[in-house]
Amino acid sequence: MHEDDKKNAVQRGNFDPNTVFDKILTGELPAEILFQNELVTAFMDIQPITTGHVLVIPNERAASLSELPTTTGAEIFKVGQSVAAAIRKSNLQCEGINLFLADGVAAGQTVFHVHLHIFPRYKNDGFKWSLPDRYYSPPERSELAAAREEISGHFNL
Ligand code: 5GP
Repeated sequence: MHEDDKKNAVQRGNFDPNTVFDKILTGELPAEILFQNELVTAFMDIQPITTGHVLVIPNERAASLSELPTTTGAEIFKVGQSVAAAIRKSNLQCEGINLFLADGVAAGQTVFHVHLHIFPRYKNDGFKWSLPDRYYSPPERSELAAAREEISGHFNL
């Protein structure tokens, strides 16, 4: 976990290295488990945005994506894709699906164990993205190019 995030979370009083997800994995806390293999576990979110909201987590403890092996990250997405397919086929009859992962306090992370959200979407379901004003006045291409240069200098696969 990034040090700044940890400090922020400690200040906000919501940092706990023994997260509720650890307790779900050990069976200390009950959960509606949908799928589990050696790398990941998928279960129902206790506070669903819409009915059918699922979380996919790594079985190993990792607060942030940066602590997670990419093979496990790939497995999280693979299982998430199958969960989305199952939701689509189910009688929940959704009109769309969102996949969402909050990595860090500033990104909205509240449980410090990596998790991918998968939740069904419907027209007028009440879920909204709040976008900043800058979104509606896109920057010059040169700003995009500078950001690409900055990121590509650190990119490894
Ligand atoms: P975040 O805000 O970190 O992206 O999402 C954390 C998610 O974990 C929330 O959607 C919240 O409802 C879910 N959650 C928190 N505590 C529990 C719990 O004890 N059981 C389950 N199943 N989900 C939880």
